[in-house]
Amino acid sequence: MPNSHTLTAATRRLLGATALALVAALAPVAVAGAQETPAAAADAKPAVDPRYVWDLTPIFKDDAAWEAGRQQALAELPGVSGLKGTLGTDAATLRTALDRMSTVGHMVEKVMVYAYFQYSTDTRNPTFQERWSLSQSLAAQGQAAIAWLSPEIQTIGAEKIEAFIKADKGLEKHAFRLHDILRLKAHTLSAETEAALAAYGPVMGAASNTYSALANADIDWPQITLPDGTERKLNQAGYQALRQHADRAVRKQVFDTFWTKFGQYATSMGNTLNAAVQAGAIDAKLRSYPTAVAASLAANDIPESVYRTLVAEANKGLPTLHRYFKLRQKMLGLPDLHYYDIYPSMVSLDKKYTLDESRAITLAATKPLGKAYTDRLAELTSRRTMHVLPAEGKDSGAYHWGTYGVDPYVFLNHQDDYNSMSTYAHEWGHGMHSALAQAAQPYELAGYSLFVAEIASTANEMLLTDYLVSKAKSKEEKLFYLGQSLENLRATFYRQTMFAEFELATHDAVERGEALSGAKMTEIYCGLLKKYHGHDQGVMQIDEKYCAEWAFIPHFYRPFYVYQYATSIAAGTYFAEQVVKGGAKARENYLNVLRAGGSEYPVPLLARAGLDMASGAPYQALIRRMDATIDQMEKLLAP
Ligand SMILES: [Zn+2]
Repeated sequence: MPNSHTLTAATRRLLGATALALVAALAPVAVAGAQETPAAAADAKPAVDPRYVWDLTPIFKDDAAWEAGRQQALAELPGVSGLKGTLGTDAATLRTALDRMSTVGHMVEKVMVYAYFQYSTDTRNPTFQERWSLSQSLAAQGQAAIAWLSPEIQTIGAEKIEAFIKADKGLEKHAFRLHDILRLKAHTLSAETEAALAAYGPVMGAASNTYSALANADIDWPQITLPDGTERKLNQAGYQALRQHADRAVRKQVFDTFWTKFGQYATSMGNTLNAAVQAGAIDAKLRSYPTAVAASLAANDIPESVYRTLVAEANKGLPTLHRYFKLRQKMLGLPDLHYYDIYPSMVSLDKKYTLDESRAITLAATKPLGKAYTDRLAELTSRRTMHVLPAEGKDSGAYHWGTYGVDPYVFLNHQDDYNSMSTYAHEWGHGMHSALAQAAQPYELAGYSLFVAEIASTANEMLLTDYLVSKAKSKEEKLFYLGQSLENLRATFYRQTMFAEFELATHDAVERGEALSGAKMTEIYCGLLKKYHGHDQGVMQIDEKYCAEWAFIPHFYRPFYVYQYATSIAAGTYFAEQVVKGGAKARENYLNVLRAGGSEYPVPLLARAGLDMASGAPYQALIRRMDATIDQMEKLLAP
């Protein structure tokens, strides 16, 4: 999770979401952070086969058309600003204004998507850098041009807006957004106060920027010498590469060195994180929210009970996590288990999956989603919708992004291994989600939030594992897929929930009026690490030096965000189980969630499909699956 790629992906998401108020989910959906897709191999050959390079002409026919599109969008902005003060005139005026904003918003989106696609395929290319930078600037100007929209709608008031919506059918597609703006009225401050707070924006970001500079640039990274005599620098990338080393002594050395180094910065990093937590608490208080977590969840209208139920259910399910750790110890043949034993693979599989095989397997594995789904997926993946191969200068990892009215795109670094295939199925889960939502919804309602986004991708991962296990030819192959699945559930469900619990504990402490120092954070984190890993039950020993790990997690500067990885994988597990067991009705139920896009808040949307996210059901489905996976593995391992 905590690697620079996922942080930048999160930043992009934030940028997209705030840059254009009318574009609900404008940002690439990266691969679930927990997967930590390795960086592109430096010696990889540039992608030459046109089959492996996406065709961006459906967005803009060439670079000149992109520039014309950008100029056209820029030229539209004064007209959009000029709508200020007119929205309360009558229903037709409001409809015309919102339609115009949608059109301009879509133009900006296309400019951004095209530029980002180019940029991510070669981040060193100065022309691509410039286009991406110009797009970001356009988005910021677009945001500024409509900054008055929400205050104006709130001033017009619910009564008049409702009457307008009733009077003009053309306002129907805008109703969700209008209601959303009105809903937040009680938490919006006076224009003067909002302007004053906005002016403090750069200062509010200082804690996170300082942290980032410390954690990525300023730390004097230590060197270690491996048993073969090679010297390795233990920076973030070095740590992530070496922590799964097959030699246990190396892993211990890596952990000892890396976390001791982070521990030396616990005071400074405690100060920066404390500032971020305080800022969140103050903002929540000013905006009349009971807590910082409630304020953060309000954006998607998620009840705080969802967050707290997730934490409570994960805690109830810790015996299952501990069962996995005991199995891991046995399979690695270790006399005891330490925190540095968490990353090495339990089973290795020397099997290659070409892109064509990844495609064929993903199509076969998603069969339970019905013929219409797999037909559409087959059609999309038969065209040049993907940037496939690693290349020098290409961004690492994987993501899905696109723009309304154009088929979805997927960015990969396919390296013909199991992870690449799993990423393929994951990203096309997102791609199909977008395709289904676009087919069913107007532009205004097609974009979906992260809370539902990772359901489609993780459900596909579950279906993939089930398929691979059912087709595996040997015991080792079965154990490999099951082991990978267990590790994915640990990293995405339990680890992210542990982070979520840390965020809750730090914010709760501040809201109780307690002081929060680096030492206090280490103490809180230590308690959580020990609890989740069964330290007191003798499952896994947690050395106190490793408790500085909290300082390594950049997502804490975007509070109450990572819990959505855990809720999503739980919901994805639930739906995968339902679809496999429940036949056509369960399948339609699930596909309707995807088709709904952003036309409804996530919690009621899932409730309509029979899943209450504030109940134990989704989390128990995940824990049940994990227990069943361990059962299967133990059976395979029995003499
Ligand atoms: Zn994803």
